[in-house]
Amino acid sequence: MNQSKIHNFLIQNVSALDGVGIKINKLLKKKKIEKISDLLWNLPQGFTDRSNVQTLDKLEIGKITTIKVKVTKYNFPRIRNLPNKVTCEDKMGKIDIVFFNSREGYIRKILPLNSLVIISGKINYYRKKYQITNPTYVVPIDMENYVNKIIPKYSLTEGLTEKVYRKLIEKVLKNITDLTEWHNEEILKKIGNVSWSESIIYIHKNKENDLNSKFYKRLAYDEILANLLVLSQVRKRIKKFKKKNKKFDDYLSKKIAKNFIFSLTANQAKIIEEINKDLKSNFKMFRLLQGDVGSGKTIVSLIAASNAIRSNCQVALMAPTEILAKQHYNLAKKIFKSTGVTIEFLTGKSDTKEKKLIQENLINGKIKFLIGTHALFQKNIFFSNLGLIIIDEQHKFGVKQRIELSNKGGRDCDILLMSATPIPRTLVLAIYGDMDVSRLIEKPMYRKSVITLSKPEEKIDEILVFIKKQIKNGNQVFWVCPLIEESKKLDYSAAVKKYNYLSKTFAKKVGLIHGNLQKDEKDKVLNNFLRKSIDILVSTTVIEVGIDFPDASVIVIENSNKFGLSQLHQLRGRVGRGAVQSTCILLYKKNLSGNAKKRIQILKSSNDGFFIAEEDMKLRGFGDILGYQQSGIKDFKLADPIQHEDLFKIAERNIKDIEHDESSFKKYYFLLKLFDKADILNQIN
Ligand code: ADP
Ligand code: MG
Repeated sequence: MNQSKIHNFLIQNVSALDGVGIKINKLLKKKKIEKISDLLWNLPQGFTDRSNVQTLDKLEIGKITTIKVKVTKYNFPRIRNLPNKVTCEDKMGKIDIVFFNSREGYIRKILPLNSLVIISGKINYYRKKYQITNPTYVVPIDMENYVNKIIPKYSLTEGLTEKVYRKLIEKVLKNITDLTEWHNEEILKKIGNVSWSESIIYIHKNKENDLNSKFYKRLAYDEILANLLVLSQVRKRIKKFKKKNKKFDDYLSKKIAKNFIFSLTANQAKIIEEINKDLKSNFKMFRLLQGDVGSGKTIVSLIAASNAIRSNCQVALMAPTEILAKQHYNLAKKIFKSTGVTIEFLTGKSDTKEKKLIQENLINGKIKFLIGTHALFQKNIFFSNLGLIIIDEQHKFGVKQRIELSNKGGRDCDILLMSATPIPRTLVLAIYGDMDVSRLIEKPMYRKSVITLSKPEEKIDEILVFIKKQIKNGNQVFWVCPLIEESKKLDYSAAVKKYNYLSKTFAKKVGLIHGNLQKDEKDKVLNNFLRKSIDILVSTTVIEVGIDFPDASVIVIENSNKFGLSQLHQLRGRVGRGAVQSTCILLYKKNLSGNAKKRIQILKSSNDGFFIAEEDMKLRGFGDILGYQQSGIKDFKLADPIQHEDLFKIAERNIKDIEHDESSFKKYYFLLKLFDKADILNQIN
């Protein structure tokens, strides 16, 4: 086959393979196998040794055994639910082959009377007879070599047998041997000097297999590269769009600087410079501002907004929740005071009259700055001259949503995304490689680090004394009873229990918020807490990210040992946003595991979200880390950012080279298709 034929073969639907009819196709789909290449990514979970060939006098119960026998007798009972049986013999004995759920016709076909066959399966013993029930393999005697060996085991679904699957795999493997290498020699050497097809064949056929074999690494590398490559192409294409450059001086930004009491950190100032440069350039900005909780991203975005407005553009700022949007709105109103800039607030709940007025004033350009929730981007909202979109706390946005966003504003519109989810170094490009990234690392100076303590649950009385004192001084308390079981109900009941318990001491000053509440009810409780009509907020983990509760100075986290570092750090970030000293108390049940102790130790020793994210990944693996589930990173089928850190580094360099040499991209296009990444590129417009 020539190259494009092999390529096409691999990305075809599985139904193109002989033996894949409607039924098998459906079963494969259940395993997310749609293209022919997807079959290959379902790697063997292990291997079964079927080379144990025995005569019928040497059978061992429970052992997987391969036998060579003659078919001597059928027993097909006419009663429902009784299995079909076939008796087979060799010189040394007899055995029954038992079939549940197989039709007579099928059995007659695979086990013709008086023929010699090879059967492989687990031996059991029933009513003084040896049996094999639903054997994995039944083949004619001339196919002995196909069965009598070590055979890969696949994770499959009911109805899809190993035999069928293996046949498909064999077919695919036969067709891919002539693939031409897409990597250059230098890269190839670095990743083990084995070809793609050699590697995939090896992985499916050989018993020895681990994440660090050169064969596995070769395949993982291709996956990493495909992931980084598509993002780098998105970035390149979006940034290629010519836009009307923004022209502004610092008149407005200076004016608003007078309206906030602090001065910017050096880090904030530097990032504002980066953003200004983007705004002033002829190319579209597509930038992520990544910064730990409380690092002061909002003010950076508001200054960016002021500059875009100064350049006569409109700005839209979107937050994921109404309360957070409202806080941004209030802050914006305050710092744009006496600038004459018209700022409006829009959510799904804004009434029709209000909405209409906003629609009008957006089109005629009176409104310069619109702040709100998703409602900002409803179909009936038109801007006359939108120049900057700011999106806060959208760690759930994957690359597809980011592209949609970029399309939404049109070519002249710059995009600034903000996220407080720290990402380990290795993963930044894999998750955000389509954007330019600014990292806000320095925290505002006066800010005191949150003191982190750990306490066994029995000492709850001490904690009550402590929080009583805090409340007396005008401070507030979060009490988190996070998810322990994978059940909302239990989760909820733990929180209710604690709420009742605390209400005994603190009466009406306790509030409760949990995942089962409607959004409105949730907002009501949060507002009560903000207005300080309650002092203690008991919650499951659903406290929204980003909201400023300036008087909250204590957070108590129950069952803290059950949580990952990043998640605990995010929770801890709900306090310590004001000037008072804040405390985070990690409660745990007795007998902490070594790992849990380590986590608590790390949290006590650091307030740096980036550092904590790295440690978290090392301790737990990358899949579990907060926020990654949504970010698309779980899409890795083979690569593991911890085991394969070296490969990520090689890929980063590789990507830079490909970016520089436009023509080389073509060589890798097939790789994007192989990993379903090519279509994303077509969505950019
Ligand atoms: P986040 O990065 O989590 O969104 P915010 O923008 O909400 O953080 O800022 C957290 C708090 O820090 C706010 O109360 C904000 O006013 C304050 N803040 C921001 N920048 C500074 C600074 N340079 N100096 C002092 N306080 C600051
Ligand atoms: Mg924020």
